[in-house]
Amino acid sequence: MLIVMKLDAPRTDIDRVKEKIRALGYVPHEIPGDHRLAIGITGNKSRPDAEQFLNLPSVLEAIPITKPFKLVSRDVKPEDSIVDVNDEAIGARELTIIAGPCSVESRQQIIDIACTLKECGIKFLRGGAYKPRTSPYSFQGYKTEALQYLKDARDITGLRIVTEVKDTETLPMVAECADVLQVGARNMQNYSLLEAVGAQRKPVLLKRGLSATIEELLMAAEYVLNGGNYNVILCERGIRTFEPATRNTLDLNAIPIIKKLSHLPVIVDPSHGIGVWDGVAAMSLAAIAAGADGLIIEVHPDPAMALSDGYQSLKPSKFKILLDKLEQLAQIMDRTFTRSPQSVEAIR
Ligand code: PEP
Ligand code: MN
Repeated sequence: MLIVMKLDAPRTDIDRVKEKIRALGYVPHEIPGDHRLAIGITGNKSRPDAEQFLNLPSVLEAIPITKPFKLVSRDVKPEDSIVDVNDEAIGARELTIIAGPCSVESRQQIIDIACTLKECGIKFLRGGAYKPRTSPYSFQGYKTEALQYLKDARDITGLRIVTEVKDTETLPMVAECADVLQVGARNMQNYSLLEAVGAQRKPVLLKRGLSATIEELLMAAEYVLNGGNYNVILCERGIRTFEPATRNTLDLNAIPIIKKLSHLPVIVDPSHGIGVWDGVAAMSLAAIAAGADGLIIEVHPDPAMALSDGYQSLKPSKFKILLDKLEQLAQIMDRTFTRSPQSVEAIR
């Protein structure tokens, strides 16, 4: 249920509604908006009685939410959500480009690529420290060592760090390094992990599971919001289909559908989506044209030598060409893509 209150409701009235919700054994979620102030109710097994709220001061309406997902739904919050990552907004008019190697391979590698990206005007660096791989014999990431290298890359360049958290045990360590915690496709329905990232406040990039429906993705996000962490960014990264020509099938349909159902920002991962480097630019442009708020792209200076996902990684030269095209496309899509390239040669 959603309790809609007057936009100018005094704090005492808002707190009174929240107290009432708690007294009933439910959880209140304050949802500020441009046109209304709402308080979502979760934790209820049956529909709460609307009457007990309607007579409280400043309450306008009590609306039952029939969808299985609530806090992520546009029914609860009609305006787009904007996730702030150290003063960079994800989900606003500005396109978000996150780039970097699949895995952190050495201190020099991640610092070099961070400097290259900084010189391109990029603000977010990706790089896996913990790599959940299909085969136990594949490279599993340099773990704590890699986290330290990511911190070093941030200290040197100021880029915001996006890195994957594989399990609840390593969450405190990863959260210390990450500006955005990536929950990988294989973990989309790891409910203990979703609850754990929901219990802290670092933004979460939640990737769609390999065979997950859009509704399942939204329900997974609901776990995080239900924990009180509203800083969730959804990521379409391709799904499994009958088509063997590509690693996955990038589900571009998901973008307008999610945008209709949810207020959360949507980022697309064209690298895993198509799985071959020479398809990445096309899928990147298509994703932005379809309404995505940004992209997460694998970039590697020497893809043939990469320890993971080299075949789908762009060389920096190709990545720069793509950025120029994205700059043009941003205008058509009524978005901005502000690049302020900064030289970091001196500190390399
Ligand atoms: C990755 O980003 O390198 C990754 C493993 O992604 P996904 O979880 O989407 O497979
Ligand atoms: Mn990868």
